Formats: sequence, structure tokens, C-alpha cells
Amino acid sequence: MRCILCERLSFSFVCKECKEKFLTPSFYRRSLRDFEVFSFYKYSEIENLLNLKHTLLGYFIYNILAKNSFLPFSKEFKTDFPVFALPIDDIPYSGYSHTAILAKYLKSKNIKPVFHSLIASNRVIYRGKSLDFRLKNPRKFQYLFKREIDVILIDDVVTTGSTLKEAFWTLKKYDVNVLFALTITNARDK
Ligand SMILES: [Zn+2]
Repeated sequence: MRCILCERLSFSFVCKECKEKFLTPSFYRRSLRDFEVFSFYKYSEIENLLNLKHTLLGYFIYNILAKNSFLPFSKEFKTDFPVFALPIDDIPYSGYSHTAILAKYLKSKNIKPVFHSLIASNRVIYRGKSLDFRLKNPRKFQYLFKREIDVILIDDVVTTGSTLKEAFWTLKKYDVNVLFALTITNARDK
């Protein structure tokens, strides 16, 4: 097969050279006032990969990205209390769930992913829409897991932050404490 980034022959979808060149994670921080969002890649570095999200390659790309960033994070992250990784709206849209893949790679001694527990009842598409549109069309999350726990919120991209904030306020009603959110990238950080 060929590397999807440089098109050279490769044993995997992203060749070893491109993995080192493009997929070595950094650690970025953005405050959404009530909590912080950490992400691993500059948006411009992986924009081409994310554009393939809804294609057949998307599943493999998300696995590669998660394996290179969420997995090492989970090994470094240590707590003495249980933490749950909560993917936002992990419903398969293009045959797979983007956020479920990310949460899966966080599984470790202290982090337990929980699936199908924070689901949007409004299936509105936010991509390319303004903050005003997003605020007028909330996702209306349903929360289906335990009360009074500590969670890491998981999404693939943070743009305006409105989805993560809405999830945060939904969870607050259940006394669920959001430690922070984790995304692959921050679209505001170009
Ligand atoms: Zn390559």
C-alpha cells in the first residue's frame, strides 16, 4: 500500500518517516473557562488527515492518531482514584465512531472508557457553522451513566468549544466532575 501522506510505498497507512515527522504529539492547552482542553496536534499539521474522516480511510487514520497520542497519554496519566473516559456522542456516523476510538486508547490502569453514555439527541451538523448557529441548536445530550464520578471528556476536534461546554453543563446536573477534556486537535490553533 501507499502512505496516505507522502504516497511512498509503505507497510501501513502512514509510513514510519511520516509518523515521526507529522504524528509526534505535542501538548497544547486551551481554557474554556470552566475547564481546560488539552490536545496533541496543531490543526494545520493534521488537517489533511481529518478531511478523510468520513471516508473508508477515516477509521484507520483515527486509530493511528489515537495510538500516537491518546495511548502514550494514558500511560503517563496517573491518579489514585478511578477516572472514566467519556467520549462525546460516540455513535457510528461513517461506519465507526470517531470518539469511541479515541476513548478506547485511553484505557489504562486508572482510566476506564465508558461508551454510549453521552449521546446527542439533536443530530445537527456543526461543521462550518458559526458559534451563533451552534448556540441556537444545542445538541441536547442525554447522559446514561453513573452520577458523582470523575471524567475526562473526549472529542476529536475542539472548535468553538460549544459542544464540550454543553456536555460539561449536562454532566454537572448529575454531579459528574469533568477533570478536563482531551481532543486530537484545537481548530482555533492554526
Ligand atoms: Zn509517508
